[in-house]
Amino acid sequence: MSEPVDAACPPWCDQPTGHLQVEPAGPGDYHISAFIVIDLPEIAGIREGTAVQVAIEQYVTSTTIYDPLISLAVGDDDPDSEALTLDEADALATALSRAVTAARDAPAHPPSKQGAVPRPPAGEQP
Ligand SMILES: [Zn+2]
Repeated sequence: MSEPVDAACPPWCDQPTGHLQVEPAGPGDYHISAFIVIDLPEIAGIREGTAVQVAIEQYVTSTTIYDPLISLAVGDDDPDSEALTLDEADALATALSRAVTAARDAPAHPPSKQGAVPRPPAGEQP
């Protein structure tokens, strides 16, 4: 005999109350939060416009409530998505933050021959 799974939504779930449809011996269902979509406009010559969606999802069956996962999807239509554990998502967020910091803190490149406007070094007046 198995205990009925609590069908109540976690606080982050943005689906309607009572949305969870779990068959006793069948497939489970997901609590889902679309959470956030980041639009990525086109960068000419580098990437087409697209979007990154970060969502929270939690699979629930009649016998098991699985740990929530962070779903990372890239693409506008029918995006590829990857589910990450909370620790993996945390590691990814830390890695992204460190990469951004490293790139922002790096000294400016020498001016290219493609017409980039050189900036005066910090502390010097033009
Ligand atoms: Zn829910």
